[in-house]
Amino acid sequence: MSIQDRLQAVRERVEAAAKRSGRAASEIHVVGVTKYVSTSSTVAALQAGVVELGENRWQVAKPKWDYIHEHKLELPEPIWHFIGSLQSNKVKDVVGRFDYLHSLDRLSLAEALQKQAEKMDASIKCFIQVNVSGEQSKQGLKPEEVRPFIEEIKRFDRVQPIGLMTMAPFELEAEQTRPVFAGLRQLRDQLLQEGGADCPIRELSMGMSNDFEVAIEEGATYIRLGTVLIGTEEDEQ
Ligand SMILES: *Cc1c(COP(=O)(O)O)cnc(C)c1O
Repeated sequence: MSIQDRLQAVRERVEAAAKRSGRAASEIHVVGVTKYVSTSSTVAALQAGVVELGENRWQVAKPKWDYIHEHKLELPEPIWHFIGSLQSNKVKDVVGRFDYLHSLDRLSLAEALQKQAEKMDASIKCFIQVNVSGEQSKQGLKPEEVRPFIEEIKRFDRVQPIGLMTMAPFELEAEQTRPVFAGLRQLRDQLLQEGGADCPIRELSMGMSNDFEVAIEEGATYIRLGTVLIGTEEDEQ
């Protein structure tokens, strides 16, 4: 299937899931995760209309970022999302290049981001990663830690929290992920209720190839799609 066909199919599924839950598909951002594919496939996706691009390692993103940056004038302007976990000593790879970070999960990282952003006169929009499922292997704050964390990072003016992110456990049945996504939405709603108009936490980054429709039904505003939209190495051969 071509990227155009895959994008069309994804758009139809996003529309249908939005409709089922009484939402507008236009409020759902589709982030195309290009970590499995080459620079040429990434550029093809961008040209096909996937303008929000997600990568989880700078090493893997770099050739694509460099190419697209060098061909700025001919290509649509991408919005870059860093979706992987980030070590504090790697913030220099991300700040100034990526518009969004989906994995803010500790104070030391917020502090490192702030320092680097000051140095570069930049800022970065962040999703706070939450471990809703409670699995040991999953990164992220515990739900009850999120509110104090938002208070603590207020002093980092260049780190702009905009929402919450979670990874569901890998389930064969997408339906089994629903409680995790519902849990993240409930946490967001609670923060909004407590924080009122000042609460910056509005967006929900949740849902991947195998469960994005359930995530949309539960309120996702950013879905992160690799396999189903951009494809994998196998699709490139
Ligand atoms: C790889 C990755 C995705 C996309 O995964 P698919 O299942 O291929 O859609 C989404 N989010 C994160 C954090 C990832 O690392």
